[in-house]
Amino acid sequence: MASDSIDKLRAGVRDVPDFPKKGIVFKDITPILKDGALFRASIDVFLERCRGRKIDKIVGIDARGFVFGSAVAYELGVGFVPLRKKGRLPYKTESAKYSLEYGEAEMELHIDAITRGEQVILIDDLLATGGTSASAATLIKKIGGELVEAIFLIELEFLHGREKLAPTPVISFLKY
Ligand code: AMP
Repeated sequence: MASDSIDKLRAGVRDVPDFPKKGIVFKDITPILKDGALFRASIDVFLERCRGRKIDKIVGIDARGFVFGSAVAYELGVGFVPLRKKGRLPYKTESAKYSLEYGEAEMELHIDAITRGEQVILIDDLLATGGTSASAATLIKKIGGELVEAIFLIELEFLHGREKLAPTPVISFLKY
C-alpha cells in the first residue's frame, strides 16, 4: 500500500472533541468524502486488500460502512448487504443486541441477505470498542455466512476492539 496515500488519508481525518458526548474524540471522515481524489484513495486501500480473493458479499455497517462498503462491492462486482440499526429493515430479520458505553443497541440483517456458505467481508469506517462489529459478525454467521475478514479505515487500538472480533482477522489502515 502506498504510504503517501495513507499519509494523505490520515491528514483527512478531522478530530472533533466532545462529540457526540463529552470525553469522546470523534474521528470525522467527511473531509475525506468531500474530496474526490481522497475519497477514491480511501476506496482504493480497501480494494487493494480485496482484489483477487473469493468474496461473495460485502456487509457494510450503518451508516458510514455503507459509503465505503458499497463502493468496494460495486468495483468488485459483488453484492452489498446493509447491516442496520433496529427497526430500519423492512423484511424478516435476525437481530443481535450489544452494549454501548451507556445502555444497549441492536443491529439487524435480513434473513436472506447471505446464502449459506458465502464468503463475506465486513466493512466499516472505524473500529472502536468492537461491540458493533462483533454483533455484525454474530449475525453474519447466524444466517450462514463465512466471515473471512473485517476491514476498517480507522482503528482506535487503545480500545482493543479487535479482541472482540477474534478469531475473525481484522485489517485497518489508519491506527490511533
Ligand atoms: P464500536 O462498537 O465501539 O466499535 O463503535 C463502532 C461504531 O461507532 C462505528 O460504526 C463508528 O462509526 C462509530 N464510532 C465509535 N467511536 C467513534 C469515534 N471516536 N469516531 C467516529 N466514529 C466512532
